[in-house]
Amino acid sequence: MKQSILVVNCGSSSLKLALFDENENKIASAMAERLNQADAFARIDGDNQSVTLPANTNHKQALQALVSAFRERQLMSETPSSIGHRVVHGGETFREAVLIDDDVVTAINHCAGLAPLHNPVNLAGIEATRGQFPETPQIAVFDTAYHQTLAPRAFLYALPEAYYRDWAVRRYGFHGISHFFMANEAARRLGKTPETTSIIAAHLGNGCSITAIKNGLSVDTSMGLTPLEGLVMGTRSGDIDPGLFEYLRTRGVALKDVHKVLNHESGLLGISGQTNDMRTLCKLADSGHEPSTLAIEIFCFRLAKYVGAMMASLSQLDALVFTGGIGENSVQVREKTLSHLKLLGFAMDTGSNECHGHHTEGRIEHAGSRFPVLVIPTNEELVIAREAARLSQAS
Ligand code: ADP
Repeated sequence: MKQSILVVNCGSSSLKLALFDENENKIASAMAERLNQADAFARIDGDNQSVTLPANTNHKQALQALVSAFRERQLMSETPSSIGHRVVHGGETFREAVLIDDDVVTAINHCAGLAPLHNPVNLAGIEATRGQFPETPQIAVFDTAYHQTLAPRAFLYALPEAYYRDWAVRRYGFHGISHFFMANEAARRLGKTPETTSIIAAHLGNGCSITAIKNGLSVDTSMGLTPLEGLVMGTRSGDIDPGLFEYLRTRGVALKDVHKVLNHESGLLGISGQTNDMRTLCKLADSGHEPSTLAIEIFCFRLAKYVGAMMASLSQLDALVFTGGIGENSVQVREKTLSHLKLLGFAMDTGSNECHGHHTEGRIEHAGSRFPVLVIPTNEELVIAREAARLSQAS
Protein backbone atom coordinates (compact mmCIF):
# COMPACT_ATOMS: atom_id res chain seq x y z
CA MET A 1 0.00 0.00 0.00
CA LYS A 2 1.12 3.56 -0.74
CA GLN A 3 2.05 6.24 1.74
CA SER A 4 -0.82 7.71 3.70
CA ILE A 5 -1.26 10.74 5.90
CA LEU A 6 -3.68 10.54 8.81
CA VAL A 7 -5.35 13.76 9.94
CA VAL A 8 -6.74 13.79 13.48
CA ASN A 9 -9.20 16.38 14.77
CA CYS A 10 -10.34 15.88 18.36
CA GLY A 11 -13.28 17.92 19.68
CA SER A 12 -14.54 17.81 23.26
CA SER A 13 -16.81 14.82 22.55
CA SER A 14 -15.88 13.96 18.97
CA LEU A 15 -13.04 12.60 16.89
CA LYS A 16 -12.69 13.15 13.16
CA LEU A 17 -10.19 11.24 11.07
CA ALA A 18 -9.22 11.78 7.44
CA LEU A 19 -6.80 9.76 5.41
CA PHE A 20 -4.95 11.24 2.44
CA ASP A 21 -2.68 9.59 -0.10
CA GLU A 22 0.63 11.09 -1.20
CA ASN A 23 -1.13 12.97 -4.03
CA GLU A 24 -3.42 14.81 -1.61
CA ASN A 25 -6.45 12.68 -2.50
CA LYS A 26 -8.73 11.94 0.41
CA ILE A 27 -8.97 8.15 0.63
CA ALA A 28 -11.31 7.92 3.60
CA SER A 29 -12.80 9.84 6.49
CA ALA A 30 -14.60 8.87 9.66
CA MET A 31 -16.14 10.39 12.71
CA ALA A 32 -16.86 9.28 16.27
CA GLU A 33 -19.35 11.28 18.32
CA ARG A 34 -20.76 11.43 21.83
CA LEU A 35 -17.47 10.16 23.24
CA ASN A 36 -17.39 9.53 27.00
CA GLN A 37 -21.18 9.23 26.88
CA ALA A 38 -23.51 6.25 27.03
CA ASP A 39 -24.52 6.53 23.37
CA ALA A 40 -21.09 6.89 21.73
CA PHE A 41 -21.16 6.01 18.04
CA ALA A 42 -18.96 6.16 14.95
CA ARG A 43 -19.26 5.92 11.20
CA ILE A 44 -17.01 5.81 8.18
CA ASP A 45 -18.10 8.22 5.44
CA GLY A 46 -19.60 6.48 2.44
CA ASP A 47 -19.99 3.22 4.36
CA ASN A 48 -23.42 1.95 5.37
CA GLN A 49 -22.03 -0.30 8.08
CA SER A 50 -21.55 1.66 11.29
CA VAL A 51 -18.61 1.05 13.60
CA THR A 52 -19.73 -0.29 16.96
CA LEU A 53 -18.46 1.63 19.98
CA PRO A 54 -19.08 0.53 23.57
CA ALA A 55 -20.71 3.01 25.96
CA ASN A 56 -18.30 5.63 27.36
CA THR A 57 -15.72 5.08 24.63
CA ASN A 58 -12.94 7.63 25.06
CA HIS A 59 -10.84 9.38 22.38
CA LYS A 60 -8.07 6.78 22.50
CA GLN A 61 -10.47 3.85 22.16
CA ALA A 62 -12.37 5.57 19.34
CA LEU A 63 -9.13 6.17 17.48
CA GLN A 64 -8.18 2.51 17.78
CA ALA A 65 -11.64 1.40 16.61
CA LEU A 66 -11.62 3.67 13.57
CA VAL A 67 -8.05 2.78 12.58
CA SER A 68 -9.01 -0.93 12.79
CA ALA A 69 -12.09 -0.22 10.67
CA PHE A 70 -9.92 1.57 8.05
CA ARG A 71 -7.59 -1.42 7.98
CA GLU A 72 -10.40 -4.00 7.71
CA ARG A 73 -11.65 -2.11 4.67
CA GLN A 74 -8.09 -2.03 3.32
CA LEU A 75 -8.12 1.75 3.25
CA MET A 76 -4.99 2.11 5.33
CA SER A 77 -1.55 0.52 5.40
CA GLU A 78 -0.20 -0.89 8.67
CA THR A 79 1.33 2.43 9.62
CA PRO A 80 0.61 5.91 8.22
CA SER A 81 3.68 7.75 6.94
CA SER A 82 2.79 10.84 8.97
CA ILE A 83 0.04 12.05 11.28
CA GLY A 84 -1.22 15.63 11.49
CA HIS A 85 -3.16 16.90 14.49
CA ARG A 86 -5.33 19.96 14.73
CA VAL A 87 -4.50 21.83 17.94
CA VAL A 88 -6.67 24.78 18.89
CA HIS A 89 -4.36 26.98 20.95
CA GLY A 90 -0.66 27.50 20.37
CA GLY A 91 -0.44 30.73 22.40
CA GLU A 92 2.55 32.84 21.41
CA THR A 93 4.79 29.77 21.45
CA PHE A 94 3.74 28.34 18.10
CA ARG A 95 3.87 30.56 15.03
CA GLU A 96 3.67 27.60 12.64
CA ALA A 97 3.12 23.85 12.51
CA VAL A 98 5.72 21.73 14.36
CA LEU A 99 6.94 18.18 14.62
CA ILE A 100 5.69 16.83 17.94
CA ASP A 101 8.14 15.72 20.62
CA ASP A 102 7.93 15.69 24.42
CA ASP A 103 8.81 19.39 24.65
CA VAL A 104 6.02 20.27 22.21
CA VAL A 105 3.55 18.23 24.26
CA THR A 106 4.61 20.13 27.38
CA ALA A 107 4.25 23.47 25.59
CA ILE A 108 0.76 22.57 24.28
CA ASN A 109 -0.11 21.66 27.85
CA HIS A 110 1.09 25.11 28.96
CA CYS A 111 -1.27 26.72 26.46
CA ALA A 112 -4.21 24.72 27.84
CA GLY A 113 -5.03 27.48 30.33
CA LEU A 114 -6.03 29.59 27.30
CA ALA A 115 -8.20 26.81 25.79
CA PRO A 116 -9.27 24.53 28.65
CA LEU A 117 -12.00 22.84 26.62
CA HIS A 118 -9.87 22.16 23.57
CA ASN A 119 -6.14 21.65 24.17
CA PRO A 120 -6.57 18.75 26.63
CA VAL A 121 -8.63 16.75 24.12
CA ASN A 122 -6.22 17.65 21.33
CA LEU A 123 -3.47 16.25 23.55
CA ALA A 124 -5.54 13.12 24.19
CA GLY A 125 -5.52 12.52 20.42
CA ILE A 126 -1.77 13.13 20.23
CA GLU A 127 -1.07 10.76 23.11
CA ALA A 128 -3.30 8.11 21.52
CA THR A 129 -1.56 8.16 18.13
CA ARG A 130 1.91 8.43 19.69
CA GLY A 131 1.05 5.30 21.67
CA GLN A 132 -0.31 3.44 18.67
CA PHE A 133 2.24 4.62 16.08
CA PRO A 134 5.42 5.40 18.06
CA GLU A 135 7.66 5.46 14.97
CA THR A 136 5.47 7.75 12.85
CA PRO A 137 6.27 11.48 12.70
CA GLN A 138 3.43 13.46 14.27
CA ILE A 139 2.77 17.10 13.48
CA ALA A 140 0.72 19.70 15.34
CA VAL A 141 -1.06 22.35 13.28
CA PHE A 142 -2.47 25.23 15.32
CA ASP A 143 -5.66 27.24 14.83
CA THR A 144 -3.98 30.29 16.34
CA ALA A 145 -0.60 30.14 14.58
CA TYR A 146 -1.62 31.89 11.36
CA HIS A 147 -2.62 34.99 13.34
CA GLN A 148 0.78 35.36 15.01
CA THR A 149 1.63 37.92 12.31
CA LEU A 150 -0.82 40.44 13.81
CA ALA A 151 0.91 43.67 14.87
CA PRO A 152 0.54 44.87 18.49
CA ARG A 153 -1.96 47.51 17.39
CA ALA A 154 -4.26 44.68 16.28
CA PHE A 155 -3.58 42.08 18.97
CA LEU A 156 -3.37 44.21 22.13
CA TYR A 157 -6.47 45.12 24.09
CA ALA A 158 -6.62 48.60 25.56
CA LEU A 159 -5.91 47.21 29.04
CA PRO A 160 -3.13 47.83 31.58
CA GLU A 161 0.00 46.45 29.92
CA ALA A 162 0.64 44.10 32.86
CA TYR A 163 -2.35 42.04 31.73
CA TYR A 164 -0.45 41.12 28.60
CA ARG A 165 2.96 40.90 30.26
CA ASP A 166 1.92 38.80 33.26
CA TRP A 167 -1.08 36.87 31.99
CA ALA A 168 -0.69 36.79 28.18
CA VAL A 169 -4.02 38.56 27.76
CA ARG A 170 -4.17 39.51 24.06
CA ARG A 171 -6.09 38.70 20.94
CA TYR A 172 -4.96 35.36 19.46
CA GLY A 173 -7.56 34.67 16.77
CA PHE A 174 -8.79 31.24 15.66
CA HIS A 175 -9.85 29.38 12.49
CA GLY A 176 -6.33 30.13 11.28
CA ILE A 177 -6.08 26.87 9.33
CA SER A 178 -9.17 27.79 7.32
CA HIS A 179 -8.11 31.42 6.83
CA PHE A 180 -4.69 30.27 5.62
CA PHE A 181 -6.38 27.96 3.12
CA MET A 182 -8.52 30.91 1.91
CA ALA A 183 -5.43 33.09 1.45
CA ASN A 184 -3.89 30.50 -0.87
CA GLU A 185 -7.01 29.32 -2.65
CA ALA A 186 -8.33 32.82 -3.32
CA ALA A 187 -4.96 33.82 -4.78
CA ARG A 188 -4.94 30.73 -6.99
CA ARG A 189 -8.44 31.45 -8.26
CA LEU A 190 -7.57 35.08 -8.94
CA GLY A 191 -4.48 34.01 -10.90
CA LYS A 192 -2.13 35.63 -8.37
CA THR A 193 0.37 34.56 -5.75
CA PRO A 194 -0.59 34.65 -2.04
CA GLU A 195 2.29 37.09 -1.44
CA THR A 196 0.60 39.69 -3.65
CA THR A 197 -2.99 38.98 -2.66
CA SER A 198 -5.04 40.76 0.00
CA ILE A 199 -8.44 39.47 1.00
CA ILE A 200 -11.06 39.59 3.72
CA ALA A 201 -12.03 36.01 4.60
CA ALA A 202 -15.28 35.25 6.49
CA HIS A 203 -15.38 31.76 7.98
CA LEU A 204 -19.02 31.20 8.94
CA GLY A 205 -19.74 27.85 10.56
CA ASN A 206 -21.00 27.14 14.06
CA GLY A 207 -18.14 29.38 15.12
CA CYS A 208 -17.64 32.47 12.96
CA SER A 209 -14.64 34.71 12.39
CA ILE A 210 -13.41 37.18 9.81
CA THR A 211 -9.79 37.93 8.97
CA ALA A 212 -8.00 40.65 7.03
CA ILE A 213 -5.20 39.03 5.03
CA LYS A 214 -2.56 41.34 3.57
CA ASN A 215 -0.19 39.86 1.03
CA GLY A 216 -0.90 36.37 2.36
CA LEU A 217 -0.49 37.23 6.05
CA SER A 218 -3.14 37.66 8.74
CA VAL A 219 -3.17 41.29 9.90
CA ASP A 220 -6.43 41.47 11.84
CA THR A 221 -9.08 39.02 12.93
CA SER A 222 -12.34 39.13 14.84
CA MET A 223 -11.82 36.41 17.48
CA GLY A 224 -9.73 37.35 20.47
CA LEU A 225 -8.34 35.85 23.65
CA THR A 226 -10.98 33.16 23.23
CA PRO A 227 -13.23 32.20 20.31
CA LEU A 228 -16.06 34.22 21.87
CA GLU A 229 -15.20 37.66 20.50
CA GLY A 230 -16.38 39.16 17.26
CA LEU A 231 -19.18 37.97 15.01
CA VAL A 232 -22.55 36.58 16.05
CA MET A 233 -22.24 32.76 16.02
CA GLY A 234 -24.48 29.70 16.43
CA THR A 235 -24.60 29.82 20.23
CA ARG A 236 -21.94 32.47 21.01
CA SER A 237 -22.75 36.14 21.41
CA GLY A 238 -19.63 37.57 19.82
CA ASP A 239 -18.93 41.18 20.93
CA ILE A 240 -20.79 42.46 23.97
CA ASP A 241 -20.23 45.31 26.39
CA PRO A 242 -18.02 43.94 29.22
CA GLY A 243 -20.10 46.15 31.54
CA LEU A 244 -22.69 43.39 31.23
CA PHE A 245 -20.78 41.32 33.77
CA GLU A 246 -21.13 43.86 36.58
CA TYR A 247 -24.70 44.69 35.65
CA LEU A 248 -25.74 41.03 35.77
CA ARG A 249 -23.86 40.58 39.05
CA THR A 250 -26.11 43.24 40.57
CA ARG A 251 -29.00 41.13 39.29
CA GLY A 252 -27.67 38.07 41.10
CA VAL A 253 -26.33 36.22 38.09
CA ALA A 254 -23.11 34.31 38.86
CA LEU A 255 -20.05 34.83 36.63
CA LYS A 256 -19.96 31.20 35.56
CA ASP A 257 -23.59 31.44 34.46
CA VAL A 258 -22.89 34.52 32.34
CA HIS A 259 -20.00 32.63 30.75
CA LYS A 260 -22.28 29.70 29.99
CA VAL A 261 -24.96 31.93 28.50
CA LEU A 262 -22.50 33.84 26.30
CA ASN A 263 -20.94 30.64 24.95
CA HIS A 264 -23.84 28.22 24.75
CA GLU A 265 -27.15 30.04 24.88
CA SER A 266 -26.59 33.20 22.86
CA GLY A 267 -25.96 34.01 19.19
CA LEU A 268 -28.50 32.71 16.67
CA LEU A 269 -29.95 30.37 19.29
CA GLY A 270 -30.40 33.09 21.88
CA ILE A 271 -32.01 35.63 19.56
CA SER A 272 -34.30 33.19 17.77
CA GLY A 273 -35.13 31.18 20.88
CA GLN A 274 -35.27 28.18 18.57
CA THR A 275 -32.04 26.96 16.99
CA ASN A 276 -28.37 27.63 16.32
CA ASP A 277 -28.66 26.05 12.87
CA MET A 278 -28.77 28.59 10.04
CA ARG A 279 -30.57 26.22 7.68
CA THR A 280 -33.43 25.69 10.13
CA LEU A 281 -33.44 29.38 10.96
CA CYS A 282 -33.90 30.34 7.30
CA LYS A 283 -36.86 27.95 7.05
CA LEU A 284 -38.40 29.38 10.22
CA ALA A 285 -37.89 32.93 8.91
CA ASP A 286 -39.53 31.96 5.60
CA SER A 287 -42.53 30.67 7.51
CA GLY A 288 -42.92 34.04 9.25
CA HIS A 289 -41.15 33.40 12.58
CA GLU A 290 -40.02 36.95 13.41
CA PRO A 291 -37.33 36.17 16.02
CA SER A 292 -35.61 33.97 13.41
CA THR A 293 -35.74 36.78 10.85
CA LEU A 294 -34.23 39.09 13.45
CA ALA A 295 -31.48 36.59 14.29
CA ILE A 296 -30.43 36.46 10.61
CA GLU A 297 -30.61 40.27 10.38
CA ILE A 298 -28.34 40.75 13.38
CA PHE A 299 -25.93 38.06 12.16
CA CYS A 300 -25.55 39.71 8.74
CA PHE A 301 -25.42 43.27 10.05
CA ARG A 302 -22.60 42.41 12.48
CA LEU A 303 -20.75 40.62 9.71
CA ALA A 304 -21.09 43.60 7.36
CA LYS A 305 -19.81 45.96 10.06
CA TYR A 306 -16.76 43.74 10.48
CA VAL A 307 -16.07 43.72 6.73
CA GLY A 308 -15.84 47.48 6.96
CA ALA A 309 -13.61 47.25 10.05
CA MET A 310 -11.22 44.81 8.37
CA MET A 311 -10.64 47.31 5.56
CA ALA A 312 -8.72 49.53 7.99
CA SER A 313 -5.86 47.00 7.82
CA LEU A 314 -5.58 46.76 4.05
CA SER A 315 -4.25 48.99 1.31
CA GLN A 316 -5.85 46.96 -1.46
CA LEU A 317 -8.64 44.38 -1.53
CA ASP A 318 -8.53 41.58 -4.09
CA ALA A 319 -11.62 39.74 -2.81
CA LEU A 320 -14.12 39.24 -0.04
CA VAL A 321 -14.33 35.48 0.57
CA PHE A 322 -17.16 33.49 2.17
CA THR A 323 -16.53 30.01 3.58
CA GLY A 324 -17.72 27.56 6.29
CA GLY A 325 -21.13 25.84 6.32
CA ILE A 326 -23.04 29.14 6.27
CA GLY A 327 -20.64 31.06 4.04
CA GLU A 328 -20.58 28.29 1.45
CA ASN A 329 -24.29 27.51 1.44
CA SER A 330 -26.46 30.40 2.57
CA VAL A 331 -27.61 32.49 -0.37
CA GLN A 332 -29.58 34.68 2.01
CA VAL A 333 -26.72 35.45 4.41
CA ARG A 334 -24.38 36.48 1.59
CA GLU A 335 -27.07 38.59 -0.03
CA LYS A 336 -28.11 40.35 3.17
CA THR A 337 -24.54 40.99 4.22
CA LEU A 338 -23.57 42.53 0.89
CA SER A 339 -26.70 44.67 0.88
CA HIS A 340 -25.17 46.59 3.82
CA LEU A 341 -21.94 47.18 1.91
CA LYS A 342 -23.16 49.08 -1.14
CA LEU A 343 -21.47 52.28 -0.02
CA LEU A 344 -18.14 50.48 -0.16
CA GLY A 345 -18.88 49.41 -3.74
CA PHE A 346 -19.82 45.75 -3.24
CA ALA A 347 -22.47 44.49 -5.66
CA MET A 348 -23.65 40.91 -5.97
CA ASP A 349 -24.81 38.93 -8.98
CA THR A 350 -28.07 37.28 -7.93
CA GLY A 351 -27.79 34.30 -10.29
CA SER A 352 -24.19 33.50 -9.37
CA ASN A 353 -25.01 33.84 -5.67
CA GLU A 354 -27.93 31.44 -5.99
CA CYS A 355 -25.57 28.87 -7.56
CA HIS A 356 -22.95 29.52 -4.80
CA GLY A 357 -20.56 30.52 -7.60
CA HIS A 358 -20.43 26.92 -8.84
CA HIS A 359 -20.34 27.95 -12.49
CA THR A 360 -18.06 30.95 -12.06
CA GLU A 361 -15.04 29.58 -10.16
CA GLY A 362 -16.69 30.80 -6.95
CA ARG A 363 -17.22 34.39 -8.16
CA ILE A 364 -20.57 35.89 -7.13
CA GLU A 365 -20.00 39.64 -7.62
CA HIS A 366 -21.86 41.74 -10.18
CA ALA A 367 -19.85 43.06 -13.13
CA GLY A 368 -20.12 46.54 -11.62
CA SER A 369 -18.80 45.54 -8.19
CA ARG A 370 -15.73 47.42 -6.98
CA PHE A 371 -14.37 44.17 -5.48
CA PRO A 372 -14.58 40.48 -6.39
CA VAL A 373 -16.63 38.32 -4.00
CA LEU A 374 -15.83 34.61 -3.78
CA VAL A 375 -17.42 31.52 -2.27
CA ILE A 376 -14.72 28.95 -1.48
CA PRO A 377 -15.30 25.64 0.32
CA THR A 378 -12.82 25.37 3.15
CA ASN A 379 -10.48 22.40 3.44
CA GLU A 380 -8.75 22.42 6.80
CA GLU A 381 -7.94 18.69 6.62
CA LEU A 382 -5.96 19.24 3.46
CA VAL A 383 -3.90 22.02 5.06
CA ILE A 384 -3.09 19.72 8.00
CA ALA A 385 -2.22 16.84 5.66
CA ARG A 386 0.08 19.12 3.63
CA GLU A 387 1.84 20.38 6.73
CA ALA A 388 2.22 16.82 8.03
CA ALA A 389 3.73 15.67 4.72
CA ARG A 390 6.03 18.70 4.51
CA LEU A 391 7.38 18.48 8.07
CA SER A 392 7.71 14.70 8.12
CA GLN A 393 9.81 14.83 4.96
CA ALA A 394 11.99 17.50 6.52
CA SER A 395 12.50 15.44 9.70
P1 ADP B 1 -18.63 23.70 12.14
O1 ADP B 1 -18.18 25.04 12.60
O2 ADP B 1 -19.23 22.87 13.22
O3 ADP B 1 -17.62 22.96 11.27
P2 ADP B 1 -20.06 24.06 9.65
O4 ADP B 1 -18.95 24.78 8.95
O5 ADP B 1 -20.43 22.71 9.16
O6 ADP B 1 -19.87 24.02 11.22
O7 ADP B 1 -21.36 25.02 9.53
C1 ADP B 1 -22.54 24.69 10.17
C2 ADP B 1 -23.56 25.78 9.82
O8 ADP B 1 -23.74 25.82 8.39
C3 ADP B 1 -24.92 25.51 10.43
O9 ADP B 1 -25.48 26.71 10.94
C4 ADP B 1 -25.73 25.05 9.23
O10 ADP B 1 -27.11 25.31 9.33
C5 ADP B 1 -25.12 25.91 8.14
N1 ADP B 1 -25.49 25.43 6.82
C6 ADP B 1 -25.15 24.27 6.23
N2 ADP B 1 -25.80 24.14 5.05
C7 ADP B 1 -26.57 25.25 4.90
C8 ADP B 1 -27.46 25.73 3.90
N3 ADP B 1 -27.72 25.03 2.81
N4 ADP B 1 -28.05 26.93 4.09
C9 ADP B 1 -27.81 27.65 5.20
N5 ADP B 1 -26.98 27.27 6.17
C10 ADP B 1 -26.37 26.08 6.03
